[in-house]
Amino acid sequence: MTITPIEPGSTLGILGGGQLARMLSLAASRLGLKTHIYAPEADQPAFDVTPYHTIGAYEDEAALSAFSEKVAAVTYEFENIPVSCAEIVARKTLLRPGVEALRKTQDRLIEKEWIASLGLPVAPYARVDSVTDLQLALSGIGAPSILKTRRFGYDGKGQFKLSSAADSDAAWAALNGYPSILEGFVPFSCEVSVVVARGADGAFAPFALCCNEHADHILSITHAPANLAASLQDQAFAMAKTIGDALNYVGVFAVEMFVISKGGTDHLVINEIAPRVHNSGHWTMDGAVTSQFEQHIRAVCGWPLGSAELLGTCEMHNLIGAQASDWQHILSNPQAHLHLYGKADIRAGRKMGHVNFVRPL
Ligand code: AMP
Repeated sequence: MTITPIEPGSTLGILGGGQLARMLSLAASRLGLKTHIYAPEADQPAFDVTPYHTIGAYEDEAALSAFSEKVAAVTYEFENIPVSCAEIVARKTLLRPGVEALRKTQDRLIEKEWIASLGLPVAPYARVDSVTDLQLALSGIGAPSILKTRRFGYDGKGQFKLSSAADSDAAWAALNGYPSILEGFVPFSCEVSVVVARGADGAFAPFALCCNEHADHILSITHAPANLAASLQDQAFAMAKTIGDALNYVGVFAVEMFVISKGGTDHLVINEIAPRVHNSGHWTMDGAVTSQFEQHIRAVCGWPLGSAELLGTCEMHNLIGAQASDWQHILSNPQAHLHLYGKADIRAGRKMGHVNFVRPL
């Protein structure tokens, strides 16, 4: 297969203007590329690092077409871009990753059905469109379990944990009757993720399996590598490869998983797929030979992937809300790699930056 690489000096389009787009843009700039951000709102973190941006709705066909004509290829920084938007862009220019990755991952029911169809392990689940469906689902799956909206959930939003069938009315009301799924509660020993790059030629470059700690449903700390058996990492890589190959995916994606310890053996259950660079891969900016952002840009451009090898034992701490005000204290540790996203308003639960620590192996 011959792949025509995008030349340095070209402009890449990015749908979405948050911190992920900002870090993608910075990585692209280091490689001699320009970026053009398309986002619906003004004052986006990514607007600070490139002079080219369009403020437009994801439904605005004329604005999307004009944007697509200005760039050599387009990528996206989050999975809730409407499929219709991705289709408009894909008709005009190269979209990497493609439309199918969005279609498969932005609806939890479609995502679960698809992952299961690949023969990969997921928690027991059932479709819920009414309180009667919920009661029926509970009789099969049991409690504890979690009711989740099919779309637009993140950082624990759009979720309700049920302790027993008596919680069904409250759960259905809490989710405002949105189309949902009920998931069996997984008694996990830890949460892990694997962030991988897949090149335009099918090359596969996984970063080390990492372990994630959450606070208030938001990622707080990532440890890489995860302190787990090497065989578990091999299983995680094999699952990610199956997913990437099935989508003919180009770019970086993450697979979030639960580790269940049963009878002294650890097993993996897939929670969800993020078709984009991922918060649990931020440690790669300082702790891997090639960062996840550079890998994504290389893949989108049809360039060879870099090495995903670890440079040390890594820890990434998210700076959420007021934690970012601590920047002077953080910098008093000369080993700290501080990354701030340039967000002016500090709000509770808002990701303001992160700090990486790398200890040589
Ligand atoms: P999600 O939005 O699906 O990533 O869920 C957010 C967090 O809720 C996860 O990181 C887990 O800590 C927890 N969670 C989600 N689904 C389950 C489940 N089926 N069993 C146990 N915990 C879960």
